Amino acid sequence: MDKKIPELYGSMVFNDKVMRDKLPKDVYRALRKTIDNGTHLELNVANSVAVAMKEWAVENGATHYTHWFQPMTGFTAEKHDSFITPVDNGEVIMEFSGKELIKGEPDASSFPSGGLRATFEARGYTAWDPTSPAFIKDRTLYIPTAFCSYSGEALDKKTPLLRSMEALSKEATKVLSLLGKDVRGVSTTVGPEQEYFLVDKEDYKLRKDLIFTGRTLLGAMPPKGQEMEDHYFGTLRPRVSAYMHDLDEELWKLGIPAKTKHNEVAPCQHELAPVFDTTNVAVDHNQLTMEVMKKVADKHGLVCLLHEKPFDGINGSGKHNNWSMSTSEGENLLEPGKTPAENTQFLVFLVAVIKAVDEYAELMRLSVASPGNDHRLGANEAPPAIVSMFLGDELTAIIDAIENDTFFENQKRVQMETGASVLPHFFKDNTDRNRTSPFAFTGNKFEFRMLGSALSVAGPNIVLNTAVAQVLSEFAEELSKASKDRIEDAAHELVKRTIIEHKRIIFNGNGYTDEWVEEAAKRGLPNLKATPDVLPSFVSAKSIDLFTKHGIYTESEIRSRYEILLENYSKTIHIEAKTLSDMLFGEFLPTVSKVSEKLADVILKKRQISDSIPMKAEEKLLKFFSESYETLTEEGESLIECIERAEKIEDSLESANFYLKKIIPLMDKIRKTADATEEKLPEGALPYPDYSKILFYV
Ligand code: ADP
Ligand code: MG
Repeated sequence: MDKKIPELYGSMVFNDKVMRDKLPKDVYRALRKTIDNGTHLELNVANSVAVAMKEWAVENGATHYTHWFQPMTGFTAEKHDSFITPVDNGEVIMEFSGKELIKGEPDASSFPSGGLRATFEARGYTAWDPTSPAFIKDRTLYIPTAFCSYSGEALDKKTPLLRSMEALSKEATKVLSLLGKDVRGVSTTVGPEQEYFLVDKEDYKLRKDLIFTGRTLLGAMPPKGQEMEDHYFGTLRPRVSAYMHDLDEELWKLGIPAKTKHNEVAPCQHELAPVFDTTNVAVDHNQLTMEVMKKVADKHGLVCLLHEKPFDGINGSGKHNNWSMSTSEGENLLEPGKTPAENTQFLVFLVAVIKAVDEYAELMRLSVASPGNDHRLGANEAPPAIVSMFLGDELTAIIDAIENDTFFENQKRVQMETGASVLPHFFKDNTDRNRTSPFAFTGNKFEFRMLGSALSVAGPNIVLNTAVAQVLSEFAEELSKASKDRIEDAAHELVKRTIIEHKRIIFNGNGYTDEWVEEAAKRGLPNLKATPDVLPSFVSAKSIDLFTKHGIYTESEIRSRYEILLENYSKTIHIEAKTLSDMLFGEFLPTVSKVSEKLADVILKKRQISDSIPMKAEEKLLKFFSESYETLTEEGESLIECIERAEKIEDSLESANFYLKKIIPLMDKIRKTADATEEKLPEGALPYPDYSKILFYV
């Protein structure tokens, strides 16, 4: 490394320091005001920023700029323009104007719009988001932008996210002011922990399923899986360690505070966690992190798999969305302090989140729904599809005391007893962890753990911010009715009533058990297992009321997003089904046939020599392979027929349900037969690497 880390960190970011150095004082101040307070930015300020940005970018080797946006594909999009402008004498100058900085006009017709934009109307706009810093990557200046249609409807994930942050800020500020605290605003903070798999590129290139669908559709379990529990936090293989070093550096250059890295539970599964940031920046950074992860892997002869379930029978990958609210003055509103029981402000915000999650549990579940994540939720490795909250012992005791009007005694902090006097002394945390809870309080923040690894974290945060904003608006209305000297009592009553009405969502036990599924049903908590089960809740009256009231989505934006989600579900399973059929008829069955032929040859030859040579084993195996061949051919043919039927279904919900109820079970059936067959195939017979080879590369 030729640069020291603090020097390297953020070296490719147009950050506050660069702005201060490069911008005239008044321009810097105007821009800062826009970033901090969301005030409107004048064109002359934008012009001045554009000049400085271009200068800085060119100095750092950039030749192009791009408006970087997040269409509803869940990925990011970019179109590069160079800075060059030809001048008279055949030369060029490098130019970039305020107009080009604040607005772009990419052709929007090929991005999903769910019917929001008629096909003939291709116009889309990108608008600069000054709250997320611009950066340089691959000699291009990246300008984070929001993406909308000609008529102003959001075509992306950033616009509603920014709207939801504003809604929460507005309502939280009101509540704080009623409780006697004046702040400029409240922002939400997010720290997403990202899980991923690394596999060897050469192995990857031989597997159609990994290439087309990001996960394996066939594959018997190797003799060793994750049962030895030796991979979690295990020593990093040198190749992986080199990858992680490189990744950290690339992320640091982009000002992404990658902090923690370790091996995860499954073989070749790893995790990366950054230090948290404001939600908007954290979302951009997570998108960027996923992209950089893939790129750096390629340099190391590896492929980074972000799919939620790349290998059947082995843990899948998720993302933990650590979330809190923080005032403009830097106070974390979910920080319990030393005596949480007496901390009215903390309790008000705590129960606001409890109520929001209970009231809008279906939307929370919806926000993490994807075909890939359906394989994880509830599969004994990830939180179940039932949304519930974990508070830990201390907070639960406080909540109980408030509910029952009993006295809560602050627990003394307990010193850790290790039994070895050379070890340092420290205090125990007053709550242990619960890994099975979908939504856990972890000290001074909540951790939403249902997200799949490939998901943009924008969606879950839009729902969370909006739901909490709604509850806070109800709280503000109630508290505003109390006189100033009665505000403590009013807050106490509010907290107590909210606990009583919403404590059903609190569950501190093991979320992976069947007993919890039963108990949750008794409590009336929804258990929506598959994506098509949960998507309709997006277009319910409750959802439309919530989102339109706070100006997050218009009704037509909701309906269009609903269509996109349904289509995405059907398309994903469609591609998987077609890939499976390709592999089955093009690779798997021909292999079985070849192996059978060899066996038959052996049997015939043995027979030619003498009837007395034993050949039962070969005959039995040949029979097994021949039967598998028949069954798999039949099942494969049904799959093809079903795919054809699915293609004819016009209604998107009906189509998604057909994929869920007809195609997925058929794919599962094929896999079961094929995997049992694979176990008996000779080593190396298949034209692609098996699980042992992929999972245990060096
Ligand atoms: P775990 O113990 O679940 O693996 P980690 O320590 O790996 O947790 O990650 C915790 C994440 O939570 C980090 O990204 C951290 O920056 C983030 N975090 C900490 N405080 C806050 C907060 N106030 N708001 C949002 N995220 C936070
Ligand atoms: Mg975590």
